[in-house]
Amino acid sequence: MSEGNTIFSNIIDGTTPADIVYDGGDTLFFRDIAPKAPVHIVAITKKEISSLDHMTDEDQALLGKLMKDITIVAKQMGLSEGGYRVITNVGNDAGQEVKHLHFHMLGGEPLGPLRCR
Ligand code: 5GP
Repeated sequence: MSEGNTIFSNIIDGTTPADIVYDGGDTLFFRDIAPKAPVHIVAITKKEISSLDHMTDEDQALLGKLMKDITIVAKQMGLSEGGYRVITNVGNDAGQEVKHLHFHMLGGEPLGPLRCR
């Protein structure tokens, strides 16, 4: 379920360019346009799901696949050895800007403790 067309839909259909690093068929990985770490990858399902809070029972296998693909991309991007962080923002209090479920993959240097403000 999705609230409709987002910038990520345009990246999926190719009408908005992005630096795509991996296409998993039903998943897509591209560099964030405003990176918050030396490596900042956005991990999405091509299926439009508004946020983690909007996933349904039928999305469980797809999101499991997305998690597996995250580990593939982490290896591909050289993040696995040093470690990395995976975050998803859900709704307004988390500051979710794009209403298409996505996970941020952050790494490339020691990230320090998780901070919220
Ligand atoms: P959110 O705040 O919703 O969790 O994260 C949305 C992310 O999408 C932000 O980190 C933002 O920089 C990224 N973003 C927004 N528009 C674009 C775009 O057009 N291209 C790419 N590659 N990233 C985008």
